Amino acid sequence: MKTSITAEPVNRLINEFSRLPGIGPKSAARLAYFILRGGEHEARSLAEAIVDVKERIGLCSECFNLSERDPCPICSDPERDRSLICVVEEPLDVIALDRTNEYSGLYHVLHGAISPVDGVGPDQIRVHELVERVRSAEKIEEVILATNPNIEGDATAMYIARQLAQFGVKVTRPASGLPVGGDLEYADEVTLGRALSGRRAL
Ligand SMILES: [Zn+2]
Repeated sequence: MKTSITAEPVNRLINEFSRLPGIGPKSAARLAYFILRGGEHEARSLAEAIVDVKERIGLCSECFNLSERDPCPICSDPERDRSLICVVEEPLDVIALDRTNEYSGLYHVLHGAISPVDGVGPDQIRVHELVERVRSAEKIEEVILATNPNIEGDATAMYIARQLAQFGVKVTRPASGLPVGGDLEYADEVTLGRALSGRRAL
């Protein structure tokens, strides 16, 4: 095996960067050398921001969105419509849907989707927490299943719809028109808003 000509701390940084989503080995090396060229203050500021986000941000115990406070600002906002829960896969989906201004209800973040191929079952995501939430809350009238419009998202929506059938709440799915197979977070605001307002009962 050829010995590495790169110093160990540099290799370590490259390895850490290459674990990030969308970052291949070349981009990881480019980022590492960018940090090396930059000042110590910038490097420290980046490192502190990474540690800070892990130390200060947790999950809201009601909706499981990322938040600095518990309950999160959405769950504790008295202006929000508490009869509506919009179920999404990821925290980024909350941001995308809230930008549309078509929705003023609450959210529930699953942190993934059911995917037997990847070994992800209902127990690995926050489905039971949602069922408990619907069971114990008084005034939930509708649950919107805004999981991604792909195989995993559809399967997750169907599973949740079956779990919620016993509670007599309305269960809907955003209208088609979202890019099929795509991620919710990449859809533009107009498309998302239209899909949400044209939702249909499951
Ligand atoms: Zn919350």
